[in-house]
Formats: sequence, structure tokens, C-alpha cells
Amino acid sequence: MGHIPEDFISNLLDNIDIVDIIGSYVPLKKSGHNYMGCCPFHHEKTPSFSVVQSKRFYHCFGCGAGGSSIKFVMEIEKLSFVDAVSKLAAIAGMDVPFVNNGSNKLSIDKVLYKINQLVFSLYKNNLLKDKAAQSYLQKRGIIPEIWDKFQLGYSTAAWGNLEEVIKTNPEININLLKQAGLWIENKNSYARFRNRIMFPIHNIQGKIIGFGGRIFNDSSQNQPKYLNSPETIIFKKGNELYGLYQAVKYKDISKNSQSDNSFLMVEGYMDVISLVQHGISNVVATLGTSASHQHFVKLFKYTEKIIICFDGDIAGRRAAYRAMQQALPVIRADKVINFCFLPEGHDPDSYILKHGKSGFENFLKNSESLSTFIFNNLAKELDINSPEGRAKFVSYLRAIVNKVYDEIVKEFLLEDLAKKLELDLERLKNMLAVNTTSSFNNPNINTNINHTNHIQKTAQIVNNYGHNKVLKKAASILIQFPELIELVKKYSIIDEHGDQDNLILLQLIQIIKEGACTTGQVLDNWNEPQSKEYIFQLALIEHLVNKKELELELEDILQNLNKFNKGYEIEELLTKVKANGMGTLSNDEKLKLTELLKEK
Ligand SMILES: [Zn+2]
Repeated sequence: MGHIPEDFISNLLDNIDIVDIIGSYVPLKKSGHNYMGCCPFHHEKTPSFSVVQSKRFYHCFGCGAGGSSIKFVMEIEKLSFVDAVSKLAAIAGMDVPFVNNGSNKLSIDKVLYKINQLVFSLYKNNLLKDKAAQSYLQKRGIIPEIWDKFQLGYSTAAWGNLEEVIKTNPEININLLKQAGLWIENKNSYARFRNRIMFPIHNIQGKIIGFGGRIFNDSSQNQPKYLNSPETIIFKKGNELYGLYQAVKYKDISKNSQSDNSFLMVEGYMDVISLVQHGISNVVATLGTSASHQHFVKLFKYTEKIIICFDGDIAGRRAAYRAMQQALPVIRADKVINFCFLPEGHDPDSYILKHGKSGFENFLKNSESLSTFIFNNLAKELDINSPEGRAKFVSYLRAIVNKVYDEIVKEFLLEDLAKKLELDLERLKNMLAVNTTSSFNNPNINTNINHTNHIQKTAQIVNNYGHNKVLKKAASILIQFPELIELVKKYSIIDEHGDQDNLILLQLIQIIKEGACTTGQVLDNWNEPQSKEYIFQLALIEHLVNKKELELELEDILQNLNKFNKGYEIEELLTKVKANGMGTLSNDEKLKLTELLKEK
């Protein structure tokens, strides 16, 4: 498996603006030299998340999260290092070079993409040959143009229906098919998808990352109607939306029916395909999972309005409520969600078949705003005319409102709900203010952080370091300007009795020597949790003089350290000699002592 060369990483970090990257997820405000915002990794009302543009790193004082753009993308999108680098490279318009360690082997993700592509070709050919599968699609009114657009296919009923792929591609074997999620091996060994209409799932670059399959005739009665690929290293369900690639790719050529460029989120791939075929564009579906926080983050990059369009039964409404909870932290004044529920017994597919495009568009016009949806949902379960019911309503509402980051959204939401509840807005706010933090449950990450605890702990941790002002200064200059490592290499810095500040400096030198070129990278590679917070503090110290002066200052410190270290080494060797005579020193040590004494 290949690796990405270090110099590419540094180049990449040079070519992207960390404020742009993080700013697309978190609203940031300029504050002094840095940017501040509310941390996306823990819940907070006052911003303690800072982005240092010039040093290319971020840090949260609340939960301790921090690092480079790569680390941020890994954490927020739940990606591997390689995937995060690829994503950022795509933004910067750079191609990721993979260095193969002596062999010509492709990295595993590339192999899996290749397998999916080969399997797709097989499924596609199967469909062109199979009359039953074709007539099913025709019966559902799906035209060949749509087969092409969504690259539909068919998996035959044979248990070993992928063997052909192995036969014609000697580099592919059962084990790789298993890793691609396409093969199952328990007591028996067989293809996962059999006798199904196949729907390839694409990532935003158009690569096939997985498949969905739907049964279409009676012979598969005991099988689940829909079946998806399991998660693999290239397929993360919580991050992918079916139809997004097509919506983005075909935007220009399809007539967009929604004038506001809104996106519809529906429940299944047949819904996506059917709506698109009838001229409703921008339709996506989750892949057999509930809508996640990441789905909304992703989709809001392409639109300012998402309409959640689910079935009108209890299950559909519950799913919409769960989706809403995931969306709340992402909603902004200019990024809204609406809700639309189909009449009982209908799904988007059947509704548009019956009522046509204009009927469906009219139906969408009646979508509920966020506040209406919240009110309707809670009002259905609680008697809001009784004091108990109203009290419960307020406590549910508190849990909801606490997830909203955007203050403007929060204000309007409360204003709307106060009206609906026939309550004075200020009174409602006062009621909500009680215990506002207790019910918070961030859908994303780090749900159990106790903010105050963390700050206390941090203070304790930081107290262990930084006593030696000179070492602290050297470390803070070096972490902020890792390129000064060349200067450091001229001097010898040694481990002096395991002094904490000295160890920190040595570790820092080590990480930079190993290839970390920016402050963010150093922070990413700092693996020692006890000192991590202290390291962030070193990175955040604002030196009031320019880089040239800092360089001179660092050199001065290094010279003194060097002298001091030499003195210390001499002393140590001489102590040995005094105790047991010259004979206790090894030849190397003798030589060293002579040299040190000469230099002195
Ligand atoms: Zn945080």
C-alpha cells in the first residue's frame, strides 16, 4: 500500500486556507489576529474555538480539539487520513501522489474503486441481456435515459454471479470482493447481490463506492426488498447521499423545477429515480440509515434549503424528527430545513406517478417550516392546553433549542413557537433558561465532555510545564516556525534529567525532523495527551516581535543550552571518573570527554 509523501502534505497545507475550510462548517468571526467560532465538536454558547490562519491550525479551549486542516476534515467528516488529504487536494485542485513502497500495488481504496467499476460493468451488461429485469423497469416507467444517468444494472440469480469478474481480472480475488462488500463467506461462499435491480452508489467525484439492490420478482420473496453494500473503507453510510453526484453533475442539463435550488431528501433510491425522471431535480436519499449530521453538512454545501420529504405515517414522521435533531446544529439563518409528508399510503414515487410533476410541486408548496414541524409534532403527543402538557412542551423545546447554534435561528424559532403557544416571548425564554445545559445531547461528537472539568484539568496539566521560561520560549518559537529546525540541527540538545520542559522541546524537535512542516502538522503528530493542551498554548503564544528577531532569539537560547548541556555532560562523566576511576568510561565516553574539555 502506498503512502503520501510529506512534501505533498506541506504543499497542500500551503495551498489551502484553513479559515475557508473550517469556515464552510463553522461560522467564524475575526477576533484580533485569529478567527473565533462555536466549536463543532462540543456544545457551547460562547465561542472558544479558535482558528489561527497564519499558523494553519485550530484549537478549542473548551474540549481540547485541534490540529491542522487535515485533522479537522478527518474529525468532522469522520474520514481516514488519506481520504481527508484527498478531499482537501480536490478542493485545492491538486492530485495526490502515492508513493508505492517498492511495489506497483495500488492502495486498497483504489483497488476497491476498481472492483466496483468492474462489477458495475457486469451488472450493466446483465441488464441489457435480461428481459425480465428490463420489463420491470419499464413497468415502473423508468426510461433508458434514467438507467444511464443512474447507471442501473442487474445482478443475476446465480450464487456465484461475480466469478466472471475474477476470471477476467486475475488481480481480483474473493478476499478483495469481500473487502468490497460484494461477497459473503460463512458456511458457504456466494455473491451478496443476486437477482436484484442494482443501483450503484457514487461519491461526489463519481466513483462507485457501493451498491444498493432491489428485488423485483416473486422468486425472491423471502429476501429483504432492499439490500445495501455494508460499510467498507470507501463507503461510509453516514456520509453519503444517494443521488447527490447526479444532482450536482447534471445540474446544467436538467431543468431545475425548484426555483430556489432547494434539495429534497427522500427515503429510498426508487423515490430519487422516479422524481428525477419526472423532472424534479436535486433529490437525494440516505442509504438505509437515518439522516446524519454529516449528511446535512454535506448537502448544505450545495443548497440553502433542504426539504425533508418522508412518508406521512408514524414511522416517516419519527424518521423526520430524528433527522431534524441531526440538522439543528447545522441550520443557519441562510440554511433552512422544511418538512413535507406524503398522504398515508403514498411514497414520493407513487405520488408523482398519480399526480404528475405539477401535482408534486404543488404538494411541496405546503411544506412545513421548522417551527411548525416542531409544534405539530409536540402538540400531537402532548395536551398543550393543560399546565402539565405545556410544562412538558417547554422541556422538550429546551432540548431542541439547545442544539441550535445559530442565534438568529434560535430567536426566530422561539418567536414563532411563543406565538403558537400563545405565550409571551420573554416568558418563554425565561422558562427555557432554567437548566439549559442539562438536556443537551450533541449528535456529533464528544457528547460527554464536562466543560468545567476539562478547563480545570487543562490548568493542572499546563502547570506541569513551562517553569523553564527559556525552554518554553524556544519551544514556542519552534512550534510556530517549524522551518527553523535547520537552525536547531546545528546544536545538540540532550535529555537533562527528564526535565518536562526539556523533554517537550526534544519531542518537538523530533516531530519536526520527521517531516512536520507546519504548526498544524506538529499538533496533529503530537501523540502525548498529557502535554497536548500545553503544546496548543505554545502554538498560541503571540510573540510581539518579527520572525527574524525570533530566529536570533532562538539561536541565542540554543547556544546557551548547548553550553549548559556540554557543562552538564562533562560534569556527569567526571562524576563517574571520580567515583570509580577512568576505567569505568567506555572508549566512546573517553573520547567525548576529551572533546568536550577541549571545546570548553
Ligand atoms: Zn470544543
